[in-house]
Amino acid sequence: MNKGDNSEYSNPLYDDSKWLEVRIPNSWARYGLKGYSGFAWYRIKVSAKSLTAYQRQLSVSMGKVSDSYEIYVNGYLLGGNGKLPPDPAIDYDRHKTYPVPVNALADSPDVTVAVRVWKSSESGPSDGGLFEGSFLLGQTVVLVQKEILSSVPEIVLIFLFFLVAINQIQLYRRRHELKEYLWFALLGLDVALYSLMRSQFKYHLFNSFILSKEMEYLFLYIQPAIFIQFMWPLLNKKIPLTLRIYQFACATLAVLVVVTPGLWLNVRTIGWWELALIPVIFFSFYMIVWEAWNGHPEARTIAIGVFAVLLAGLNDIGVDRSLLHTPRVIHFGFAAFVVSMAISLSNRFTRIHKELDLLRQTLEKRVEERTTDLEEANRKLNKLDQMRTRFFANISHEFRTPLTLTIGPLENLIAGQHGEIQPSLKGMLEIALRNSRKILRFINQLLDLSRLEGGRMTLHYERGDLAAYCRQTVAAFTSLAERKQIDLGFTTEPEEIIFIFDRDAVDKILYNLIYNAFKFTPEKGKIWISLSAPNSDSVEIAVKDTGIGISKEILPHIFDRFYQGHERLTDEQEGTGIGLSLVKELVELHGGEVHVESQAGFGSMFSVRLRMQAEAPGVKQENREKGRDDFERGWLKSLSSGPAGPGAAELSSGPGQNNKERILVVEDPSFG
Ligand code: ADP
Repeated sequence: MNKGDNSEYSNPLYDDSKWLEVRIPNSWARYGLKGYSGFAWYRIKVSAKSLTAYQRQLSVSMGKVSDSYEIYVNGYLLGGNGKLPPDPAIDYDRHKTYPVPVNALADSPDVTVAVRVWKSSESGPSDGGLFEGSFLLGQTVVLVQKEILSSVPEIVLIFLFFLVAINQIQLYRRRHELKEYLWFALLGLDVALYSLMRSQFKYHLFNSFILSKEMEYLFLYIQPAIFIQFMWPLLNKKIPLTLRIYQFACATLAVLVVVTPGLWLNVRTIGWWELALIPVIFFSFYMIVWEAWNGHPEARTIAIGVFAVLLAGLNDIGVDRSLLHTPRVIHFGFAAFVVSMAISLSNRFTRIHKELDLLRQTLEKRVEERTTDLEEANRKLNKLDQMRTRFFANISHEFRTPLTLTIGPLENLIAGQHGEIQPSLKGMLEIALRNSRKILRFINQLLDLSRLEGGRMTLHYERGDLAAYCRQTVAAFTSLAERKQIDLGFTTEPEEIIFIFDRDAVDKILYNLIYNAFKFTPEKGKIWISLSAPNSDSVEIAVKDTGIGISKEILPHIFDRFYQGHERLTDEQEGTGIGLSLVKELVELHGGEVHVESQAGFGSMFSVRLRMQAEAPGVKQENREKGRDDFERGWLKSLSSGPAGPGAAELSSGPGQNNKERILVVEDPSFG
């Protein structure tokens, strides 16, 4: 090899005995020409004397030459790569095979190959010369075969990296929370693209040397950033700030080398990038080994892969810096890493599967235990339910029967059926009657609630004039209204509303609402009940009063069971908190809804909308009356039975309740 340029150097007869003896592939930096830019020539003379005519079909294979060259055989120019001055163009990546023309060998028994190399001062720190790949002179067929075979591992690896990327992306798509699979997919993709850019296959994609180099740098520079992004979370570690900065620098550099024109930035940053990579690789390796030592299930397998990358990376850095003269092996390092990752991920998969199996078994066991517990609890509940039913039956028997038996004679006594009684005694009897009715009402409400809760309350729908029915219920409050000097009004539009409804339920709904209105409306107030039929299959009943109203705070709770809104209630207002919850449940059972509008100090309005129900076939009022226990029918019935007490009003039922007269009297115990 010789520096300088002389056209004579291609001449096979030229005497090159004084030239420097070199081995290729190697950059000329190794032979004391570090940093040399300009021309240099390489020559080799091979004897072809013993070759047959067939064997003389020769070719020369050229690996990578920095930065451009021309090749001559026996003084014949075969071609070259890139362009030499005066109009130079760098292109040091492409492998080429040149067939030697027959006439080049015709006059000489020897083959003298001369390569005229030019190195630009612009290109990278790796020095010039025939620096990488294989440089061969041989039979054309043999060389072509060799070239094809040498590309097989590369293509297999590129394919493998792509496959890994697709596989991991697929895993990530199924489980988005497994971010490390996404990052490993990106790493695989990056390594695949980088390997492609390092291979000769890239020339099948595009021809521009500069563009291909820029891409290669991009994929190389971004690699450690992706690696960190993948590895740290995989080991359940938080990425430290220094590494975050390093990642950012890598990503920025990767973008910059692509957007800046030419390879100026690339060749000036690669050395620094490699230097910065060394501590990162060592640190990663250290961390993974540490994790493996501490028993991380995946770290051991990964450590082997990272070790391979570390060795390969150090080798290539050494090659770039002319410290080593081995081939570049980084893609084999990556391959080892990918394999280790694949093993580690499949280990992980198996482990997770095992854990899942265990979990399933534990779960099954727990479900079994819980089922037994539940069955036990259910048995207890059933027992409790039976006890409760018995309890309510007892209440009905033990309280209601004696109460009714008390109320009847009391009413008779007060009515004077057993002779005139003294006014003082009469007063005492009235107190006794009021309180007995109060207890009876409470018990009836409790029983209703219990029946509603147990789903045992069934409604019996019948066709009838709802307006007339409500008029009667309202009329029952007339005497009470008189005594409290309350203006009680009733309007209905239209006059007659033929509707299908449950009489008991409507009684209880209306009674409770009017009863509350009386409780919370002071003397000289106003209560009025209005009925309307907005369409043919629904009616609206509104109960308005000018009472104390309900504040915003308690309004949302008034339909809750046992809720009593107002504090400092008078004896008369004191209740049980059952009334409205019973109203709501009955209305809903009747396929309707209840609303309230109220303002503290200005009164309240409760509106009930009932929807038309299907009439129960063959149900007749008489049958129903007969079939039901009189006591179970509720408080209204019990209040209306027997002779009227003092102050009670007798009212005729108005038109048609199956032509049966209903006489309702409200002589409520609370309102003395
Ligand atoms: P109670 O038996 O206590 O009356 P309710 O369920 O019937 O139980 O009513 C719950 C609460 O709703 C009452 O304690 C009262 O605070 C309020 N409330 C009900 N109706 C009226 C009304 N017309 N005016 C003012 N407050 C009312």
